[in-house]
Amino acid sequence: LLIIFDLDDTLIDTSGCITPIKLKDALERMIAAGLKIEDEAEAYRRLLQINQNALSSRQALKEFLGTEGHFLEIGSQEVYGNISPQLPIEPFSGVIDTLAELSSLHQLALVTQGRSDQQFAKMKKAGIDYRIFSKVIASENSSKKIHYQAVVEDLKPAADSGVLVCGDKVAVDLAPAKELGMITVHMRRGRGKAQAGPSEIVDYTIGEFAQIKEILKIETTKVIAR
Ligand SMILES: [Mg+2]
Repeated sequence: LLIIFDLDDTLIDTSGCITPIKLKDALERMIAAGLKIEDEAEAYRRLLQINQNALSSRQALKEFLGTEGHFLEIGSQEVYGNISPQLPIEPFSGVIDTLAELSSLHQLALVTQGRSDQQFAKMKKAGIDYRIFSKVIASENSSKKIHYQAVVEDLKPAADSGVLVCGDKVAVDLAPAKELGMITVHMRRGRGKAQAGPSEIVDYTIGEFAQIKEILKIETTKVIAR
């Protein structure tokens, strides 16, 4: 099979490692720009709490700011545009071994949203060798459908073999994959933890990355049976 992965909160623990640090930076940056906050520690706690159920850091900042929304761009820029390569970032457990195992049986690709240099830096920091993927697309454009199509066009998987997409965000990662007739695996970690996907979009749900091996056994059997 051809397997297309998402990066943040699917292979690496972005929400756990980077987001809390960057939200603190964003808060400080917005305060420096004039945002009035009485108790910074308390404000940070509130921001983290809002972030727990937010679909993105940007959404969390937006909700946090309320009527002070004019600081949103300053905060967002800090979160998304200023990721230091010094920040710690870990892969989820089992990711490195599982990817290595899968790569001997399947073709792997990565479609990730964000600045290309930062996405590659995060992979490197997490110990993921990007060369394990036959194709990597890092794009700031949030619509993944055209990127999935580009991967398929480029790698040309056999017509009777399936394409499987694994990601944490149902609307962003999995809905466009389903539209293209791909098999979808919902990684319920990070941002994905708060959302349960409808069964017409989500074929499988996993909480541990290595569980994807069981799914691939099932799907490979189906391909052989065709
Ligand atoms: Mg993600």
